[in-house]
Amino acid sequence: MSALFPFHGGLKTVRHKTESNTLPIEPGPLPRRLIVPLRQHMGNAAKPCVQAGDRVLKGQMIGQADGYISAAVHAPSSGVVAAVDLQPIPHPSGLADLCVTIETDGEDRWIERQPLDYRHLHPSDLRNALRNAGVVGLGGAVFPSAVKLNRGGHCERVDTLILNGAECEPWITCDDRIMRERAADIVAGLAIMAHLLEPREALIGIEEDKPEAVAAMTAACAGTGYEVRVVPTRYPSGSVKQLVFLLTGREIPDQGLPLDIGVQCFNVATAYTVQRAIAHGEPVIARVVTVTGHVQRPRNIDALLGTRFADLVAQCSGYRDGVERLIMGGPMMGFALHGDDVPVTKATNCILAASAGQLTPEQPVMPCIRCGACVDACPALLLPQQLYWFARAKEFDKARDHHLFGCIECGCCSYVCPSHIPLVQYYRYAKNEIWARDKEKEKAELARQRHQARQERLEREKQEREAKLRQKAPPRAAETVVEAADREG
Ligand code: SF4
Ligand code: SF4
Repeated sequence: MSALFPFHGGLKTVRHKTESNTLPIEPGPLPRRLIVPLRQHMGNAAKPCVQAGDRVLKGQMIGQADGYISAAVHAPSSGVVAAVDLQPIPHPSGLADLCVTIETDGEDRWIERQPLDYRHLHPSDLRNALRNAGVVGLGGAVFPSAVKLNRGGHCERVDTLILNGAECEPWITCDDRIMRERAADIVAGLAIMAHLLEPREALIGIEEDKPEAVAAMTAACAGTGYEVRVVPTRYPSGSVKQLVFLLTGREIPDQGLPLDIGVQCFNVATAYTVQRAIAHGEPVIARVVTVTGHVQRPRNIDALLGTRFADLVAQCSGYRDGVERLIMGGPMMGFALHGDDVPVTKATNCILAASAGQLTPEQPVMPCIRCGACVDACPALLLPQQLYWFARAKEFDKARDHHLFGCIECGCCSYVCPSHIPLVQYYRYAKNEIWARDKEKEKAELARQRHQARQERLEREKQEREAKLRQKAPPRAAETVVEAADREG
């Protein structure tokens, strides 16, 4: 057993895993209508390549990647495009975004799928295939995987490739079930990633409260050289920074990337989609979603993207009485939704219907008593109360100097704060302010450079014009008389 490098702080949370992890993954419904957002990933939204009235097949591209940091979007089932317009999406703002609505025909008819042999593909063709299959990180960050699978100029080589199966947030169990049921495909996906990155070692980090997943993944790794490492059950061990440190002892710098220290990290569910995309020619059109909390029969559902949350809750026999809040993601890092009439996207790992008893009760915010509990809990080794003061006082430069951007917004500090200060909200506010100011500064600097360049060009043109005039013009009369006088002595 290799050594682990425990991180500072973190929390032992109540797990709430058994509510949903005892049943196998269930296929989701085939709804009459699927609403598929074109922005389901970090970076540019996909550009729609269908219009109302078009017939589409399951797996057909309906939005193409727009630029390097983008990913394609596909029809989750066959049918007719009813509209390409703004629809509500699962986002804390409750705002709408551009979506393709498909009236399904019930036939669920696939496009012709073309499996690829990755060993015979040029790396850039392989990455392109993943981009066109819409493969993005399914742990919640939804960053396009093709970008992460390009070492680029970042480092000589990737030393360690990590699959993240920690799933440390309470309530969420979709990765646990995927590892139990689809371990061979996950490991096959890892092999494709390893083919691109050529790491020295490949590790799979799984929290110790998932013994069945550990057993399944260990069996699937037999003979591959890939290694399953069991990490302590401690939130937030599934955060990339913490997992990388736990497994390697190496720290990712503030605002840096794992690649900066020769590491790359993917979620286990992402590895599964890599395998489906390459070995089966199936783009990402579905994902496993944990539906849990105050629903009648919590479970994991393999849901078509675009399925309404309400349809998944109905598959769990509906809500129980007393739901106070609907959360997408876990209780620590998820966000409250405005309703359940929004579609499943690639980022939807969990729908948590929380009752009053399952939520931390709203308590009056009291002044900071400088107890230091937040410092003890912070896994990023920050000074949360100090950051709070700076954010409150709008001393953003000081907040930045105190490594505000090293904050992973895990919520451990807020969780332990006896004064119930919503600390993470202050950090998000400060980060947004700093980003907005940086953008303003950049814009002003660009405008200044443009103005300066224009002034220099005008001056240059003026001087060129004057020089030309001087060359062309005959000597003036007065000058001729003076020159003649000079000649005569
Ligand atoms: S835990 Fe709360 S009260 Fe204690 S130091 Fe931190 S911010 Fe202040
Ligand atoms: S939210 Fe930020 S400051 Fe608070 S414990 Fe997590 S990393 Fe530390």
